[in-house]
Amino acid sequence: GSVESITNVKKIVEAIDEPVVVVVSALGGITDKLIETSRLAAAGDEKYSEEFNAMVERHRAMVEAVIPAGETRDALNVRLEALLGELRSIYHGVYLIRDMTQKTANVIVSYGERMSSQIVSALIDGASCYDSREFIKTVRKHNRNLVDFDVTLRLTLQTFARMPKIVVVPGFIASDIADGETTNLGRGGSDYTAAIIAAALNASALEIWTDVDGFMTADPRVIPNAYTIDELSYNEAMELCNFGAKVIYPPTIYPVRV
Ligand code: ASP
Ligand code: MG
Repeated sequence: GSVESITNVKKIVEAIDEPVVVVVSALGGITDKLIETSRLAAAGDEKYSEEFNAMVERHRAMVEAVIPAGETRDALNVRLEALLGELRSIYHGVYLIRDMTQKTANVIVSYGERMSSQIVSALIDGASCYDSREFIKTVRKHNRNLVDFDVTLRLTLQTFARMPKIVVVPGFIASDIADGETTNLGRGGSDYTAAIIAAALNASALEIWTDVDGFMTADPRVIPNAYTIDELSYNEAMELCNFGAKVIYPPTIYPVRV
């Protein structure tokens, strides 16, 4: 969400001695913007272009602020501009045809995490970036995309068998097991990506870093004296999620529950 928080990510990750997989969300608010912009484009509203440009600026400004000038920044900019160029063309197509299928919407929202993962991997010393669409696989069922755990587990183990010390992965996005189309795990799904990877690799810990210090007794935006809960069982955590705690995405606990 901010230069400060993205810089904290670098500090947190670089301080860890064990190998670590870093799963990122899109820059704060970008997924909403990606969706709003596609609605404008599909409605034939030229303002989509301003909205798009604002997203471009947001990413460029983040890179300027967190990556020092030099080779790393140049290489990152090449990748980022390529992604932004594709995205611009897709929006232009949506605007011209005034048509937005689910397939197009899924491709559009994927750019948020694809860009943020490039930025974060350039930011963290020695980090590699893997594309989660290559190992997080979904199947279509009742018009929804559900994780295929068997295949995902096998591919994740394979992908991380000889992992470098730090790998950055885009959360949220996946691909269809049958046709390889870009899919996602639902809004807020990057927590779930992290849990799936942690479970597959039998990680010693899954940490979810967000803008509050943990599960709270209530939503602090509504109940000002809500406080952080020190310890919860897996079942209690799942229950809180299902009853609307916004801190993590409801299915997240399931893969890592013991
Ligand atoms: N960027 C996605 C969303 O806003 C996934 C996530 O943030 O976890 O829903
Ligand atoms: Mg989240």
